Amino acid sequence: MDEDVKEILITEDEIKARIKELGILISEDYKEKFPLLICILRGAFLFLADLVKETKIPLSIDFMAISTYAGKTESSGEVKILKDLDTSIEGRHVLIIEDIVDTGLTMDSVTRLLKTRKPKSLKICTLLDKVERRRIKVNIDYFGFKIPNKFVVGYGLDYEEKYRNLPYIGVLKEEIYKEGSINI
Ligand code: 5GP
Repeated sequence: MDEDVKEILITEDEIKARIKELGILISEDYKEKFPLLICILRGAFLFLADLVKETKIPLSIDFMAISTYAGKTESSGEVKILKDLDTSIEGRHVLIIEDIVDTGLTMDSVTRLLKTRKPKSLKICTLLDKVERRRIKVNIDYFGFKIPNKFVVGYGLDYEEKYRNLPYIGVLKEEIYKEGSINI
């Protein structure tokens, strides 16, 4: 275990097993729909990669990078697009692949934006769901794990761009946080 990690919340094997189940579910639900999976960068990159390997249907993928304005400006709920999609989503069955839904502000904002582009359907698949922290209702169609209100890293999720390469989801030690930089 990484020395900055206090506890492992979800092991590599647990992640693998759950993603297998999600792959089966998504393959059934999107059979003959040629869905477009939109990976929200950067946190969801590993999740997307492992998830698509567990699907058995034709699909396409695209990427979107956004800044979430964590901290002070979080309450505005507006996201800034750092990298937009290359694909038109009009008439497509779109599935957003996200790492974690926390307050819900990011997913609310992203879905509002994407709906204006007229997809045929728009659903959300998140690896982690921090239910207790929700400030705005978000319809989550697929989730990997519901987790408690703890700041987690690993399997794509970072703290100051570190820890994305850990193969598990772990709780970061409090002493690693810089004062005030995490709003938890
Ligand atoms: P929301 O808008 O739902 O509050 O926040 C979503 C974003 O906040 C996520 O995409 C992620 O970047 C970040 N976030 C929220 N909770 C955590 C956490 O426990 N760990 C990490 N690494 N990022 C988090």
